Amino acid sequence: MGTRSLQGSGGESKDYGFIADCGEDAISLKYCCVCNEDLPLYEFHSDANRYDGVNHACRDCRHKHYIENRNEKSEKNKEHYLKNRDKILLRVKEYHLKNRDKILAKMKEYRLKNKH
Ligand SMILES: [Zn+2]
Repeated sequence: MGTRSLQGSGGESKDYGFIADCGEDAISLKYCCVCNEDLPLYEFHSDANRYDGVNHACRDCRHKHYIENRNEKSEKNKEHYLKNRDKILLRVKEYHLKNRDKILAKMKEYRLKNKH
């Protein structure tokens, strides 16, 4: 068999310098005090009220917390509602009758503002 000549193999080393900028250091880790894990920053919601600008709990934990609390809250609301149903309904009715114009104006304003 004849010798094969390698033409334009493209095997030369290219300049991969830019990869160095995307090393592990590019992703900062943050400790989630709820699930006790170090997670990349993008797993956290930003929170302007926090000193470091990110929420203390990761997305998953926040979500779980939200769902647990929502159920608890709605259970309590339901209980409260059932106990005071007549009172609440009466109050709502009264409020609506008293503020009918205000409420209608606000609804109209809201609708106009949120028109796309
Ligand atoms: Zn977590």
